[in-house]
Amino acid sequence: MKNYKILIIGGGIAGLTAMNRLEAIGLSPILVEQAQSIRTDGTGILLGINAVSILAKMGLADHLAQNAIKLSAMVGLDEKGDKIVVDDLAYIEEKSGFGTYGIRRDTLSKILLESINQANIITGKKVVHIANEENGVKVSFEDGETHIYDIVVGADGIHSIARKSLFGDIPLRDAKQGCWRFIAEKPEEFMQNAIFEHMGLGKRAGYMPTDGGKLYIYALLDSDKFDKNNIPNHAQLLEQFQFGGLWKIVSSAITDESKCVFNEIKDLSEICITKGRVVLIGDAAHAITPNMGQGAAMGIEDADVLAEILSEKEDIKKALAKFEKRRYKRVKMIRDKSYILGKMAQSSSKILSAIRNVIFKKLPAKSLSDDTFKTLSKW
Ligand SMILES: Cc1cc2nc3c(=O)[nH]c(=O)nc-3n(C[C@H](O)[C@H](O)[C@H](O)COP(=O)(O)OP(=O)(O)OC[C@H]3O[C@@H](n4cnc5c(N)ncnc54)[C@H](O)[C@@H]3O)c2cc1C
Repeated sequence: MKNYKILIIGGGIAGLTAMNRLEAIGLSPILVEQAQSIRTDGTGILLGINAVSILAKMGLADHLAQNAIKLSAMVGLDEKGDKIVVDDLAYIEEKSGFGTYGIRRDTLSKILLESINQANIITGKKVVHIANEENGVKVSFEDGETHIYDIVVGADGIHSIARKSLFGDIPLRDAKQGCWRFIAEKPEEFMQNAIFEHMGLGKRAGYMPTDGGKLYIYALLDSDKFDKNNIPNHAQLLEQFQFGGLWKIVSSAITDESKCVFNEIKDLSEICITKGRVVLIGDAAHAITPNMGQGAAMGIEDADVLAEILSEKEDIKKALAKFEKRRYKRVKMIRDKSYILGKMAQSSSKILSAIRNVIFKKLPAKSLSDDTFKTLSKW
């Protein structure tokens, strides 16, 4: 393995995982992050078996077992709180050998950070432009410095400057849904180790336990149900969510003290992976909607595959071309499936949502879990 000079832009989940995987094959990348410290904000994240199997390969299985909550099922509910469909995560664990976990994003960042050489991380360092040149990639920083690298890994998120420098302005596709995410104290009555989602008309809400005795709660509304210029506070939001069952316990956990993050749901209209000696990973390459809980997992897969390919091929351009071939179909399939699922899960049509519920109820036992296993066990 040549000692390539590699720059990773961005210290999110994709960038940190890439650093770990590239170090594991004997490389010493430098990671730059524009913020003054590696991000420890965010709310909750669902880690599917694909992400978990790579984290286990990274030696982090014990950390997950200690710091995250293993989930036994993903349960789809109607507005009243009646069960429509179950994805049996315990069964998927039996088949794959890997659990599905609920974790706070800051906990995951901390675990990843501890697994890499932090001496090679430079925070407060913003990239403003990159360009492929004959002898490498020229990277310009906000502080006026410029450096040349053999390979640049753009892991700088949905608004990636690496992508913009090489591919121009790629529009985001607006799913026309707003999403509120909360981290709240888990009420004592909430004992389930599972993730639940109520599917309503033009709205949906879900919740799962996470580490630290917290509950991760999310609520989505179609964009025509709120004013983007006057985002509702949690009390105004909850008035629109009169779901039954567990939701009554869960919604009372959302208080002024709960952490709240609001996002408009968007994905990237075109997948952009490589150009010259630059490779994009994570949201920079293929931001997806959160409906399958697979955004971060796709970045984790990218990082693992990139290291695998770089360890096999000396020629950088050939290696990156192979990476693109391997990743394009995979991330496109997940992006497209996730977008459709999001539309289906909160259809505002009474007829379509009734048909959806009937189809879900009639699914043969384990068929959804077999599909999840198939989708997440190979990439
Ligand atoms: C509502 C919602 C719910 C979600 N739920 C899940 C879930 O349950 N499971 C899941 O797997 N995924 C989920 N996701 C998706 C997941 O959060 C993202 O896919 C993932 O965090 C993206 O990681 P990343 O490292 O690619 O990008 P980011 O986390 O955006 O990290 C990019 C980093 O690059 C830095 N940066 C940016 N520009 C520059 C620059 N010019 N110079 C230097 N540094 C720079 C940023 O500061 C940031 O730290 C969800 C997303 C949303 C919106």
